[in-house]
Amino acid sequence: GAERTKNVLILMSDTGGGHRASAEAIRDAFQLEYGDEYRIFVKDVWKEATGWPLNDMEGQYKFMVKHVQLWKVAFHGTSPRWIHSVYLAAIAAFYAKEVEAGLMEYKPDIIISVHPLMQHVPLWVLKWQGLQKKVIFVTVITDLNTCHRTWFHPSVNRLYCPSEEVAKRSLFDGVEESQIRVFGLPIRPSFCRAVLSKDDLRIELEMDSELPAVLLMGGGEGMGPVKKTAKALAESLFDKELEKPIGQLIIICGRNEALAATLQSLDWKIPVRGFEKQMEKWMGACDCIITKAGPGTIAEALIRGLPIILNDYIPGQEKGNVPYVVDNGAGVFTRSPKETARIVAEWFSTKTDELKRMSENALKLAQPNAVFDIVKDIHELACQRGPLANIPYMLTSSFSSLIY
Ligand code: UDP
Repeated sequence: GAERTKNVLILMSDTGGGHRASAEAIRDAFQLEYGDEYRIFVKDVWKEATGWPLNDMEGQYKFMVKHVQLWKVAFHGTSPRWIHSVYLAAIAAFYAKEVEAGLMEYKPDIIISVHPLMQHVPLWVLKWQGLQKKVIFVTVITDLNTCHRTWFHPSVNRLYCPSEEVAKRSLFDGVEESQIRVFGLPIRPSFCRAVLSKDDLRIELEMDSELPAVLLMGGGEGMGPVKKTAKALAESLFDKELEKPIGQLIIICGRNEALAATLQSLDWKIPVRGFEKQMEKWMGACDCIITKAGPGTIAEALIRGLPIILNDYIPGQEKGNVPYVVDNGAGVFTRSPKETARIVAEWFSTKTDELKRMSENALKLAQPNAVFDIVKDIHELACQRGPLANIPYMLTSSFSSLIY
């Protein structure tokens, strides 16, 4: 018979653009595949339900990432399990009531975490509620390689790893092989499903139809040496002898409005854009990309077959993205804007064969269907559970009062 709609709660946080992008990708794929069968909530429960420090992860993360040494200490210092377990258990106890209320408001049949700090506390709450056997809890890891160990929790029903590297790390941390699936990083369906012709896109985006194009960006926040690289490229992509350009440059600054304003004020003809909603189009219209090592941008570029120049990475979780790209022959790493500009100029003139080879390697590494593989697997889990109806959600404060 007709089963009732199941509630899916996706836990994310705006620490970087990537977690929200993955959350929304999963939501969209659920809707495309199963329509009304699932009702999806994408929530930062921490922000809504708790107090400091959980409600300001965004601010703290931004602050620490700007002062990378701080982030290094935070990332590696909290790596030992006893440290983060104790810390997260303390937080769980302290905010138990609020987190419980925050979770239960959505009466989830399925909880999907796409954030490294959203395993322990919700799983504690489910345990206290006696709901561990009734609610499906899965984690979708959104880092490609050197991810933080708080991603790995042995009590999840499934752990979706974007790469074999991450799967290996999770095995070391006590997750069982039967819990693990390796499908790839979930990317918005618009990226994987659309068939876009480069020529059409160039017309739509008002780009030159002939010249090879390089896309310069710095993740969702416009981080890394964007300005210096732009200036170096403006020179290297202009053939002074023939007095004509050998390539075109597109700059996307994301949410970094200060950067966009500075670049727009320069006296040149290079298009500078702020936050773009249709990244699949810009990537589809270009021939290679320069960015910091954000997992989302990398996975998207691979799907579009763009060779990648990585010019920066956030210590810890993004460090391993560099060998992931470079060792697989899909790009290069350099922090130097001059070097970057030289490489692009070569790719567009004397080394077109290298550009082509790297593009092929990128496509080999791409996993455009990952997001659909993930939602189908979650759907199967839900079917195995049988009817999920009538999960006895109760807002008990009894266990919380035990703790206080
Ligand atoms: N992005 C976007 N519009 C922009 C800039 C970036 O939609 O103008 C998206 C990009 O396509 C990617 C995400 O933001 O999906 C950035 O995630 P990533 O993991 O690369 O880096 P983060 O910003 O999370 O550090």
